[in-house]
Amino acid sequence: MWDDVKHVIDTSQSFAITSHVNPDGDSIGSALALCEFLKAQGKEAVVAMSDAIPMVYQWLDPDREMMAPVDEANLNQITAVDAVFIVDVNSWERLGRLGEPIQHGQAVKAVIDHHPYRELITPHSVIQTEASSTSELIYNLIDTLGGSMTKRAADALYTGILTDTGSFRFASTSPHAHDITARLLDHGVNPAQVYDLVYNQNSEARTRLMGQVISNIQFAGNRQVAWLTVAPSMIENTGALPEDTSGFVDTTMTIAGVEIGIIFVGTNEGTVRISLRSRGSKDVNQVAGSFGGGGHRNASGVVFKGSIEEAVEAVIKVAVSAL
Ligand code: 5GP
Ligand code: MN
Repeated sequence: MWDDVKHVIDTSQSFAITSHVNPDGDSIGSALALCEFLKAQGKEAVVAMSDAIPMVYQWLDPDREMMAPVDEANLNQITAVDAVFIVDVNSWERLGRLGEPIQHGQAVKAVIDHHPYRELITPHSVIQTEASSTSELIYNLIDTLGGSMTKRAADALYTGILTDTGSFRFASTSPHAHDITARLLDHGVNPAQVYDLVYNQNSEARTRLMGQVISNIQFAGNRQVAWLTVAPSMIENTGALPEDTSGFVDTTMTIAGVEIGIIFVGTNEGTVRISLRSRGSKDVNQVAGSFGGGGHRNASGVVFKGSIEEAVEAVIKVAVSAL
């Protein structure tokens, strides 16, 4: 399974590693661990992302070695490498500002991911949709190719698995994911400390915003679809940050009887960031897909062009029909 990736590594000296816009724990964790692994093999490697690293993951990169957000002046440096690894995503659009230059650059492109796809963006692709996370795949890669596991890489991979499995509760939480997690603990990961750093560092403003947003929850489809809306003014008035809405959608799924939960976050650019969650066989990948987005069956997202009202009107209809 890793032969092709091994060949790409063996035949290249300089690497850039990138991932999707709005990086999350898994994209950051898998990119950082892959970077550590490549450096340990005597390669030059750098992580570059289109967007900034959320505060709660900055402890993984204390010396700010990741280029995130990458600035225009550094774009050349990223495309001039021998090979680019694209992790936790398999589409050019989701790479943000880095998509175009990488797609049209000379570097070999390789994908390591666990998201469903329609067509491969490069023949050098390892995509395992049954993996809990891309971090799980990077662990397998390091294990197979025989690299050493640094504490920093172990922390990064643990964070990726922790966040992408919803703290080991999503259906993707396999025996293999737990097995890897156990081995990461052997490498010195402190689970209580990581949980505290990732989940218990919210600002007062985020909590106030969450209170407002949740108190306006709405329902459709015999109360099986629940949704939240966040206008840009609510974010501004509470002093919260746009990324503070991350995780709000999960509160919809804590209500008995709710099968599909959705959040609509308006931006000042005339778009709406939509996150969808579902239980069991209810497929929100399809719902997001019908608006040009994607993800997994039980967690997906899409950026909608239009107002919050237009987004609600269009998406709730499709969500109800997916019940
Ligand atoms: P979240 O709601 O946590 O941002 O994303 C949930 C899942 O949906 C993630 O697996 C993510 O990859 C996917 N996703 C989120 N936004 C988009 C999007 O705009 N396009 C696509 N294709 N997938 C998305
Ligand atoms: Mn992931």
